[in-house]
Amino acid sequence: MDLGLRDKVAVITGGSIGIGRAVAHGLAAEGAHVVIAARQVERAEEAAAEVATRHDTRTLAVGVDVATAKGCEQLIAETTKAFGGADILINNAGTGSNETIREAADDKWQYYWDLHVMAAVRLGRGFAPSMIERGGGVILHNASICATQPLWYEPIYNTTKAALVMFSKNLANELIPHNVRVNAINLGLTLTPDWVKTATQLTEGTDRTWKDYIQGIADEWAPIKRFASPEEVADFFVFLCSSRASYSVGTTYYVDGGMTKCVV
Ligand code: NDP
Repeated sequence: MDLGLRDKVAVITGGSIGIGRAVAHGLAAEGAHVVIAARQVERAEEAAAEVATRHDTRTLAVGVDVATAKGCEQLIAETTKAFGGADILINNAGTGSNETIREAADDKWQYYWDLHVMAAVRLGRGFAPSMIERGGGVILHNASICATQPLWYEPIYNTTKAALVMFSKNLANELIPHNVRVNAINLGLTLTPDWVKTATQLTEGTDRTWKDYIQGIADEWAPIKRFASPEEVADFFVFLCSSRASYSVGTTYYVDGGMTKCVV
């Protein structure tokens, strides 16, 4: 199936590892050029080099903090300089939290708001003109099933991801007259290196392995009883970016192995 992605320019925030890196590979495998943005520039460069070598495509690594206005401006400027603009934007950079509402201070709320919501606002606003100029585009927001089914230990994550989903719907309404399709994806358990690191730390010095811990979480939370691999969720992102998903607009898709407990 031709996905119509050859020579498209895709910007992926948080593309240096985990889900974002798998999406970068998935898009590049279809012939897209990719811009990988992350704070640790060496890791972004290493990912960009791997993608370029494996798929014979052009890549660019940009070391920026997308939770800041300056970082977003730099990402837009460097992408424009290298590629003249973008056709695809994947707002993926994000991270979990751990707090109670009674204890968390304003600055923690502000940081997650800036990372999960303002990055999408600033980058959507910044890249939309070039997408429109190029005849259309795609913006995807990597939210989480926590946007609708909160995990008890991360109220700030849950709240800011819910806001991201609502932002995605509003942006979709505003941009579809210009042939820019905007959607959100709510993932469930996805086995990224970060999960492995956490599981390793939590099982150190016990008689359980990190794999036992991961399996325990999957058994408890996901009817499918396993984590997704980054590659299998990346396939869903790639499809939504493609011209084969041309009627998909303003929706939130759940890719969660059945973890969402109600009908959404
Ligand atoms: P990882 O922790 O594996 O990777 C996060 C990526 O984002 C890294 O490239 C990191 O690079 C980058 N990043 C983080 N903060 C910033 C920042 N301020 N500016 C620029 N880049 C940043 O995450 P995952 O792959 O697990 O998750 C990706 C997205 O998917 C997140 O939004 C997450 O909420 C969502 N998700 C993940 C699930 C899972 O089970 N893994 C489930 C549901 C949703 P660097 O540190 O160098 O900046």
